[in-house]
Amino acid sequence: MTSTRRTAGTIAVALTLATVSLTACASQSQSQSQSQPGSQADGRLLVATTVAPLTSIASAVAGNKARVEGIVPEGTNSHTFEPSPQVAQLLSKADVVFINGLKLEDPTKDLAESNIKDGGRIVEVGTEVLPESDYIYDFSFPEKDGKPNPHLWTDPTYAKKYATVIAGALAKADPKNAAYYKKNAAAFNKQADALDAALRSDQVSVPRRVLLTYHDAYAYFAKTYGWKVIGAVQPKNFEDPAPQEIARIIDEVKAEKVPTIFGSEVFPSSVLSEIGKATGARYEDSLRDDDLPGKPGEAVHSWLGLMRYDYQTMIKGLGGKSPALDKLTITPANPDEAVYPQ
Ligand SMILES: [Zn+2]
Repeated sequence: MTSTRRTAGTIAVALTLATVSLTACASQSQSQSQSQPGSQADGRLLVATTVAPLTSIASAVAGNKARVEGIVPEGTNSHTFEPSPQVAQLLSKADVVFINGLKLEDPTKDLAESNIKDGGRIVEVGTEVLPESDYIYDFSFPEKDGKPNPHLWTDPTYAKKYATVIAGALAKADPKNAAYYKKNAAAFNKQADALDAALRSDQVSVPRRVLLTYHDAYAYFAKTYGWKVIGAVQPKNFEDPAPQEIARIIDEVKAEKVPTIFGSEVFPSSVLSEIGKATGARYEDSLRDDDLPGKPGEAVHSWLGLMRYDYQTMIKGLGGKSPALDKLTITPANPDEAVYPQ
């Protein structure tokens, strides 16, 4: 009995102490939030992001008012990526976590949800900008699996919406810099418009805008810009396709007289080179959907550099010319200091 009572007493004291220290924490963070909203030592926001194109757009909008840290290393398969337990630390400190959503990064989303701090916010950018009625299900993302094609960012019209959503979320977390984020999003959107205009002007030179890719990353882009995706070689389990599927693709490439078929940096494929040999189509294996060109800090290492490279590669591969894209300025308005895990 005595010992039980003593234990209860100890717990009561411990609880009181805990309450005191929680109150101290709360008032400290309250006074901090009056002047500086972020969790960084210098009061800036800490922003966590997932894939590199999203990191690049978030960094363009955040400028020098936030530390932006990516989670998915470049060159890994973002669709099957499982974050390491250390990522939980970043997620527990972040003021805002931006993920693409549309079920691209479910394991990272789960980890964010169980670690996000009080007052922190998880924003599914793609899910916010795409109404469910516009979801595209296709070769690698069949409807019966309930996972729509998540690659909205390969279409500049959606990338602009990403920037707008990101600016809104940052403004909410850090109201005194709202105008700064809005201005940066406007600058990003102007560059995305220039990319859109260059693409529309150059793609006119392509005799037939037909795409056979390994990784199915251009569904929304194709719809917006009038391209036809005749197939994606990669099945939904990210392994090689069945022989009868390869035979079907070979027939289609021959029927459509496709001069070049496109592989992906992240998913090397011997199947595509086989299809190339069987059809006479050239196999171009350097398209990228979330692995940025160049090195962090270089202008090409950006969403804009990524998309320009892909469009140039597609247009030239299919017999067109890309003078407008070649001339496009890709220097960012603010230096990109985001962290890109490699
Ligand atoms: Zn992808």
